[in-house]
Parts: sequence; C-alpha cells; structure tokens
Amino acid sequence: HAKRHLRGRTVIFSIELEAEIRSRGVIENSLRTADFETELELVFQPIVDAMSERTASFEALARWQSPRLGWVSPADFIPAAERIGLIRPLTQALLVRALATAKTWPDDIRLSFNLSAHDVCSPEGILPLIAIIEKSGVPPRRLDFEITETAVTFDFVRAQQSIAALKTMGCGISLDDFGTGYSSLSHVHRLPLDKIKVDRSFVADINDNPVSHKIIKSLTGLCDDMEIACVVEGVETRAQLDSLRRLGCDFIQGYYFAKPMSGDAIDKYLTKEQQRLHAAGTRDAKVV
Ligand code: C2E
Ligand code: MG
Ligand code: MG
Ligand code: MG
Repeated sequence: HAKRHLRGRTVIFSIELEAEIRSRGVIENSLRTADFETELELVFQPIVDAMSERTASFEALARWQSPRLGWVSPADFIPAAERIGLIRPLTQALLVRALATAKTWPDDIRLSFNLSAHDVCSPEGILPLIAIIEKSGVPPRRLDFEITETAVTFDFVRAQQSIAALKTMGCGISLDDFGTGYSSLSHVHRLPLDKIKVDRSFVADINDNPVSHKIIKSLTGLCDDMEIACVVEGVETRAQLDSLRRLGCDFIQGYYFAKPMSGDAIDKYLTKEQQRLHAAGTRDAKVV
C-alpha cells in the first residue's frame, strides 16, 4: 500500500487501484486522439423471439481497436468517453454506421442501439440523434433505443423528455440491464417502455438457484401485466432457454443463438436461420 497526502487527508491506495487509475488515464488519452472512423467498429448480436426462435432484431455493440492499446472492451471505453466528454460524438458516429448497416436488412428486422446517460440527459438534447435517424431513411418503427436505469436517474426529467421525443417519432424504448444498479420499479411505470432487458446475472444459475428462477418469474409476470416485452440477456444453454420459455420470456439474447458478429456476416446468418427453421418445420410436420 502506498500512502498519499491529498489536501491534508491521508489516502491509502492499493497497488491494484493505482494500476487501474493509471490505465483509466491511458484509455482516456488514447481515446482523445482516436480516429472514430477507422478504430471503432460495430458488431451485431441477434435478439430472438423465444417462441418462434426467429431473429427479431440485432443489438449494435461497439468495439474499439486502439493502435496503442489493442482491443479495448466497451465496458471500459464507453465510461471513459463519458468521463472525458466524448460520448456524444462517439454515439453519433456509431448511430450513423448502425443505421447504414440496418438499412440493408429485411424490413421486419429491427435495430437495437445503446444510449448513454449523456445522450439522453445532456442539455443539447436528443436532437442530433433525431436528425441522424431522419437522414438515414430507416423507418423509426424499426428502431429500439436501449437505456439503462443508471442513465435515467442522472437527470430523470430530461431523460423523460428525450425518451418522449424518440417515442413520438415511432422508436421503441428498452430498459437495459434491468435488476442491476439503482433499480427502481418507479422507472418502469414512469417511462413509456416497450421492452425490459433482464440482466444476464439472473440467468446464469436459473436452473440451479430457485431464487433466480423466482426473480425471473416475477419479472415476466410484471412485464405481462404492464404489457411490456421481456427480453433476457446472456442465455448460453438450451436448458436456460427452455426454462425462460416456460416462464414466459418474450425475447432471448445470448451466445446460445449467436455471439455478436460483423455486419457482413448477417446476411448469411439470416439465411442459415431460415434453413434451420424450415428444416425444423418439415421435421415437425412429418411427426404429426
Ligand atoms: P449491454 O448493452 O447489456 O450488452 C450486452 C453485453 O452482454 C454485450 O457485451 C454482449 O456481448 C454480452 N453478451 C451477450 N450474450 C452473452 C452471453 O450469452 N454470455 C455472456 N457472458 N455475455 C453475453 P459487450 O459487447 O462487451 O458490451 C458491454 C456493454 O457496453 C453493453 O452492455 C453496453 O452497456 C455497453 N455498450 C456496448 N456498445 C455500446 C454503444 O455503442 N453505446 C453505449 N452507450 N454503450 C455500449
Ligand atoms: Mg444493451
Ligand atoms: Mg444489458
Ligand atoms: Mg410475456
């Protein structure tokens, strides 16, 4: 442990904490000089209808290949971009590209896009994002915006206004990472939500832990009552999928169906899915 004197207070840092603070600084500095056009990429993960097992939408997930740091996780660089005030231009650059990719998809496949607290709570507002959507030519009814509870608590009134503006256009709103952070059921009834995305921490042990099972059960019940679709993230096994279907989850996302893939791979993925569903259909028909 290293002792530091900060404004008269003695603070004890662990070596690990110092390393983390240093690496945060390194990420922030590299991000300041990053070329968003060449260093950032989007990958897409299917969100699948639990009953038909057909892809309903793809969630766009950011990837950063830094020339200095190599691959950096969005869990690290998104918060860094928020800290140094770069998240809004970053979101805008990503949304332009996500929409360009989604434009090439079949008309019934939606795009799900993550927004940060600063995107929905900043005084500059949601207008730049609305302009990007309008310019893209992708119908807003094909879009879902994912917002975390932490993001809306940042400035609830402004978040409400941004969300209302997106809803008025025809976009859907999903509450992301539900059940983590500063969860409050008040968000569920004070926001015009279309989907709730249940955090993957509840899914991991759904078949071994009766408590996780009960939590998902009560969440699907709540969603049903409120006419909100229930999406469960992080589904990795058939056994988890089967339990979630029995519990009434509407949509499933996770490695069981697919890991996030490049935009170029989507066409082939959807073709394969269609073949798989068709084969299953003919097989079931023969059994009957
Ligand atoms: P998220 O929005 O909750 O996205 C789901 C995360 O779970 C993704 O991690 C995804 O790759 C991962 N995941 C999906 N299925 C499984 C599974 O079966 N097992 C496991 N272990 N993980 C699974 P990723 O891509 O690393 O993104 C992490 C977080 O970073 C996202 O969580 C989101 O909060 C944030 N993020 C990513 N892209 C963007 C973006 O473009 N804008 C903003 N504001 N945030 C983003
Ligand atoms: Mg998300
Ligand atoms: Mg999530
Ligand atoms: Mg339901």
